Amino acid sequence: MSRYFIWTIGCQMNKAESQQIAGYLDSAGYQAATSFSSADLVVLNTCVVRQSAENKVLGTLGLLKGLKNEHPNLQILVTGCLVNSDSQELKRRFPHVDLLFKPGDYPELIDWGHKQGMPVEQRLLRYPLATPRASAHSNDAGMAPSPCALIPIIQGCDNFCSYCIVPYRRGREVSRPVGEIVCEVEELVRRGIKEVTLLGQNVDSYGHDLPEHPDLADLLGELSSIDDLARIRFLTNHPKDISLKLIEAMASLNKVCEHLELPVQSGDNDILKAMRRGYTVERYRELVNFIRRKAPQISLSTDIIVGFPGETEEQFEHGLSLVQEMRFDVIHVAAYSPRPGTIAWRECQDNIPVEVKKERLNKIEELQTAIASEINLQLQGREVEVLVEGRKGGKWFGRTRSNKLVFFEDAGGWLGQLARVQIGKTSPWSLGGEVKK
Ligand code: SAM
Ligand code: SF4
Repeated sequence: MSRYFIWTIGCQMNKAESQQIAGYLDSAGYQAATSFSSADLVVLNTCVVRQSAENKVLGTLGLLKGLKNEHPNLQILVTGCLVNSDSQELKRRFPHVDLLFKPGDYPELIDWGHKQGMPVEQRLLRYPLATPRASAHSNDAGMAPSPCALIPIIQGCDNFCSYCIVPYRRGREVSRPVGEIVCEVEELVRRGIKEVTLLGQNVDSYGHDLPEHPDLADLLGELSSIDDLARIRFLTNHPKDISLKLIEAMASLNKVCEHLELPVQSGDNDILKAMRRGYTVERYRELVNFIRRKAPQISLSTDIIVGFPGETEEQFEHGLSLVQEMRFDVIHVAAYSPRPGTIAWRECQDNIPVEVKKERLNKIEELQTAIASEINLQLQGREVEVLVEGRKGGKWFGRTRSNKLVFFEDAGGWLGQLARVQIGKTSPWSLGGEVKK
């Protein structure tokens, strides 16, 4: 039997799409392999949001060139944000690649599969996510299936933040109909899924392009009524688009978890304007205060870019003060990376030296480590609900509703169970405790 290996980097959307591709290859009779060298077909699901990610992709493509020289029958498929509209140019650069297809362009993949003689089961085409695949992510190979599924609900992005390449690679926003998403989640729940995370580059735009303009709050209401679905999450929110209706829905629907990804990107109004984010620091602060009033248990994650063109020391300090004030649970910090074709790449000079970017990045991370350590310490001695996702280093692990990673030791079988865990140990990154029986 032929074997496939999927290599994935980048965002949750890429992970979800790798699961869909794995579902398709399973239905075509392929078996998952655990490494490039043991596979007959390799899929690279790529990210080029920053140069560092792109370098990893190019390095892996180089490695595969060597492997293909040794095994000329190896088939190499490339998808994700590396694939732009000029696929001819990519074909010239990477002649050892058999198929390049844009993110989510399954008709292209299936057409290629037909030409290779792959049979396709209709059901899996309609519910491509029906088999959540641990093997879909290179780091997870060999693990038992998780009780959590990622569900793309809106593709693309219409925002064109000045630094971001995503709209150029993933195209304009296209929402999936409510009924289709509900059917898919019902099917997944029948197969043992307990938690779904609804995905979009900007989930707050969900539905604006559908006939009756349903929104994310409406979708959350529909999904909440599915018996045996325990938890619902969604990401990523945009501070300019998140609605009061959504915040109310999140606060009132029991299955919707108390966790929000709300990227601020900068703590300075001039930089936010140059980034074309569409809100000010004052508006962001108001929003967070409102959310915390409505949902006091909420845990907040954010993204910050340091070293955007022209960012002065003072403008960076505004970011540090905002971090101090907001007390986020998690921050993903990135150094600005110019992306060819974007507005900032065309109009601004990448004039902040690498060492300064690194220094700023370290300062935010240091401050955030101290804050997260204090926030997590408050959970010591408390009992939390953990949905158990698997085992690592001899311990069970899973997440709280507020998305905190929790480890515990026990001889029982906890995979997919909701465990009550008493927290005994905390760190800025995870919690440890004892399971209550
Ligand atoms: N849609 C989300 C939003 O509105 O923030 C985020 C999606 S973006 C693909 C993921 C993260 O990558 C962003 O939040 C940003 O912090 C980071 N990012 C995007 N472009 C970047 C760039 N050119 N340089 C550095 N970081 C970047
Ligand atoms: Fe990129 Fe902005 Fe769209 Fe997020 S909202 S994907 S940062 S353009």
